[in-house]
Amino acid sequence: MTRLGWSILAVILLLGAGFASVVSIGSSPVVTPPQAVAPTAQPDPRGGRLPVPVAGVARDALVDTWGQARAGGARHHDAIDIMAPQGTPVIAVADGRVEKLFDSVDGGRTVYLRASDGGTVYYYAHLADYRPGLIEGQAVRRGEMLATVGATGNADASAPHLHFSVLRMAPGEGWSGGQAVDPYPLLAQTRGNR
Ligand SMILES: [Zn+2]
Repeated sequence: MTRLGWSILAVILLLGAGFASVVSIGSSPVVTPPQAVAPTAQPDPRGGRLPVPVAGVARDALVDTWGQARAGGARHHDAIDIMAPQGTPVIAVADGRVEKLFDSVDGGRTVYLRASDGGTVYYYAHLADYRPGLIEGQAVRRGEMLATVGATGNADASAPHLHFSVLRMAPGEGWSGGQAVDPYPLLAQTRGNR
């Protein structure tokens, strides 16, 4: 190879090395931000903790009633029952939208609240009264009053309580669908405290 040839080769190698270093320097900021951002994108360490849906009820006063036999064992209880005096305010546990206000034989007066992410529906049953003006489609904020505790439907009139379910929804699934998950770990003082 001629001296000129060596010079050209050297220039090419230098350019190549320079390009590689630019690429590696240039690419590292692209890789770093997701790593730096990742911790804030992690789930809340408290595990998606919900506020207690009945005003004035402490977390450590909750009783895990998930899975208890109902109707003589014909079905199991896919909710938590929260005992409270008739008329106690019931609150939204998440930002979302009132998807359905429904009267059923068993549930009595009910609210189906769809969370903003669309993937969860919170079901409130045995309500005494809706908050005045509450309508289907209405946007509500976490902590906002929805209704009052009662004993409508098949609840014992002498034991008013909120029957509260958390339903994980498949994409496109309507208010009457969903898969119930145990609300207790989402509400109790410590996870798995049962
Ligand atoms: Zn119940």
